[in-house]
Amino acid sequence: MRTPPGRRQLPPQARVLKALDRAAIFALYQEAGRRRLGLGSDSPWLHAHLDPDAAHFLFPDPATYYWPDPDAGRPWWQCSVLLHMVDGEQVRSGLAVLPETFTALPSTVSRLRQRHLALIARTTERDTWLWGRDHESDCGPDACGYAPADGASR
Ligand SMILES: [Zn+2]
Repeated sequence: MRTPPGRRQLPPQARVLKALDRAAIFALYQEAGRRRLGLGSDSPWLHAHLDPDAAHFLFPDPATYYWPDPDAGRPWWQCSVLLHMVDGEQVRSGLAVLPETFTALPSTVSRLRQRHLALIARTTERDTWLWGRDHESDCGPDACGYAPADGASR
């Protein structure tokens, strides 16, 4: 993560990659949706397709045009997310997380593994949208277990 010219460097507590279980990562999507942060929101589809037994990873990784700027109404940190989907594939996602929320999450991953996982996240090209598109033909109560309540697939 490089600080763009003229921008304030992110604090040390932002320079961490964190591992979360499904409930914890989904709670962050709910918060982003509820507070309309503008990047990431929860859905029954997402919850149903996140591996409940695997770790999901998250770290602040703001693009220059999304650099945190409370004065411009953007207090949140743009995070890169590495999600473990129900079929075992890891895909990339993006999520806005409030600094106080991120800082309060426990840090359990060794420095070496943090670097390794961040590299995987940055070099993973498939995101949840592409994964969902390819998964569509396998999606249903008899396959992945997802049964949309209203008949809509996503
Ligand atoms: Zn499915």
